[in-house]
Amino acid sequence: MNIYLMTDMEGCAGMLNHDDWVLPAGRYYDKGRQILTEEANAVISGFFDSGATRVLVADGHGAGGIDPLLLDPRAELLRGWPDCIYPLGLDPSFDAVAWVGQHAKAGTDYSHITHTGWFNCIDDSVNGHSIGEYGAVALCARELGIPSIFAGGEAALAAEVEALTPGAVTVAVKRGLKKDGLDHLTTDEYRAAKLSAIHLSHTEACRLLQTGAAQALQRLKTQPASFRYVSIQPPYVRTTRLRADAKQPARTDRYEHPDSFIGLMNTPYLKR
Ligand SMILES: [Zn+2]
Repeated sequence: MNIYLMTDMEGCAGMLNHDDWVLPAGRYYDKGRQILTEEANAVISGFFDSGATRVLVADGHGAGGIDPLLLDPRAELLRGWPDCIYPLGLDPSFDAVAWVGQHAKAGTDYSHITHTGWFNCIDDSVNGHSIGEYGAVALCARELGIPSIFAGGEAALAAEVEALTPGAVTVAVKRGLKKDGLDHLTTDEYRAAKLSAIHLSHTEACRLLQTGAAQALQRLKTQPASFRYVSIQPPYVRTTRLRADAKQPARTDRYEHPDSFIGLMNTPYLKR
């Protein structure tokens, strides 16, 4: 079994805020990378416990989050997308897609460090389905015929996972304490607005992640039909609502593609 593991940072237990922990200039960035890499290693161990033969770790955090020196030697690390951004190095040779360190999408109640891409996004939707960073990857996998089986991250991510990929196993390692409904905030205000959470210990988070990943891959082998996707048909229309910030007023971007979700997601990059 060949597994693709997408990693982010903000959804890990112990990632206490954004600026100190996940930005290269942050005072705890190296500790943040260690936390993420060890959470990823727990997931990798769970997959190998259940018979994985290869795990490719795709470092999806903007500035990078995996420490190559700490990564489980059985895994490989992808950094630098080979194609036009999407599908982020995925191809049909993978048997399953999984996530670790993932946070919920912009606008989610009781999420921590909530955002989609950056803090300027209010909502990103495709054909009426609100997608976050999780959905952007999951729906690429759907198009390539690969099941989404596991997501580790904050508790608020679970609803988004179940809405887009019913049956995928989720493991919650922290829970945010603030409601949302903050569409009126500017980008900088929103960046500072969702920084309260209760975290599991790093050790307990890793234990749960390893167990959950092992269960997910075991179930893929015995009940593959239990991992499903939301029904979404072409043509694809993406609507991205953005907040006002210092550089520009609030706006809504709209993109279309006749037959490919992956093509749709690449459209903004092709226009530059
Ligand atoms: Zn992210």
